[in-house]
Amino acid sequence: MISKIISKTKFEKEENCFEVELENTIFRPQGGGQPGDQGKLIKKDNSDQEFLIVNTFKKDNKIIHILKTDKQDSLNINDEVELIVNTDLKDELAKLHSAEHILFQSIKRIDEDAVVEKVNIHAQESSLFVKSPNLNIDKIIEAEKLANNIISENRNINIHEITKEEVPNYKLLRIKLEKIKDDKIRVVEIENFDQSACCGSHVKNTSEIGFLVISKINFIGKGTYEIRYKLNDLSLLFDLANTSRKARSILNVDSDQIIANITNLKTANENFKEKIRELSKLVNIEIKKEKLNNELNFWYAVFPGINKRDFIQKINEIEENNCIVCFINHDEIENKTSIAIRIINPASETDASQILNTVTESFNGKGGGNNLLAQGNIEIEKGESLDQVFKFIKQIL
Ligand SMILES: [Zn+2]
Repeated sequence: MISKIISKTKFEKEENCFEVELENTIFRPQGGGQPGDQGKLIKKDNSDQEFLIVNTFKKDNKIIHILKTDKQDSLNINDEVELIVNTDLKDELAKLHSAEHILFQSIKRIDEDAVVEKVNIHAQESSLFVKSPNLNIDKIIEAEKLANNIISENRNINIHEITKEEVPNYKLLRIKLEKIKDDKIRVVEIENFDQSACCGSHVKNTSEIGFLVISKINFIGKGTYEIRYKLNDLSLLFDLANTSRKARSILNVDSDQIIANITNLKTANENFKEKIRELSKLVNIEIKKEKLNNELNFWYAVFPGINKRDFIQKINEIEENNCIVCFINHDEIENKTSIAIRIINPASETDASQILNTVTESFNGKGGGNNLLAQGNIEIEKGESLDQVFKFIKQIL
């Protein structure tokens, strides 16, 4: 397409970039989760100089092209230019965008409370953020299957415009009316499946999409899932299949038993850990007793990852005047180290929470408490001695 430059200003967000407005354009601005078109602009004079268009967006109802160039002076207002869109990218984005409409409608068919929070169409991997109180991984996987069925049915995708007054006639139309400023609404309709108000690029028939694979499902909390997907990625499918084949071989069960098996293992593991914690408190722990130079008694011991409740009970059982007790509870399985400091009938002003703060600062931990009892967690590298913690405390006392 031949066009003309009508304005050119510096694009503040990026170096060597300029916002260019043209008399008319074939470039589609970003919107509805789809990035703006990219391509190039050729100056129609003897030079045929080329400029890269890295993005297109709407600003104050004008379509702005972002040009990346260090030769900005060679472009001027009223210059005649030729526009060439990167059609490979545009075609890919159209497939991904149509696939996103199908995937979301598929989720909605399975969970009617589902709403779109955000869409990110990206050539490498796209994301769809969906919120619903009842959504789960099983439903999302079922939706992936439905979406691929719909895609394989070679359904037409028709685009037409309606006015705001006509919206009530379109009972199934997905639309956020409050977001639409124009009177004209562009409706993207996937034959007998989905109607959505959308300004993005789409394919004409679902057969152009190929197939869709969900690459990742992230639960972000508050009922929202990020569903990442790719198109026509056979190697991703093989990777996922290989994971299942390897898991089957390690667990020595049939494929349909993998999930049940892992779930059982997880439960059994939790039970074992709990049993170990219960048994650990029965182990006889030697409490070391020292008298420091300032007549302060310093008692300390290491417990093998017993229950938190039992651990605090142990430190509270100690009875000794003018004594500072420091107990460490080291859970080797989880690699967690907690610490408790108690001060009993102090002869001088010693503050348990102050001592704990100094310890947690040096051992990358956190915690809290009061002047008589404080507790927290610290980090000890695997294989390192816990004695260094007691030595450290003796030094600061
Ligand atoms: Zn859309």
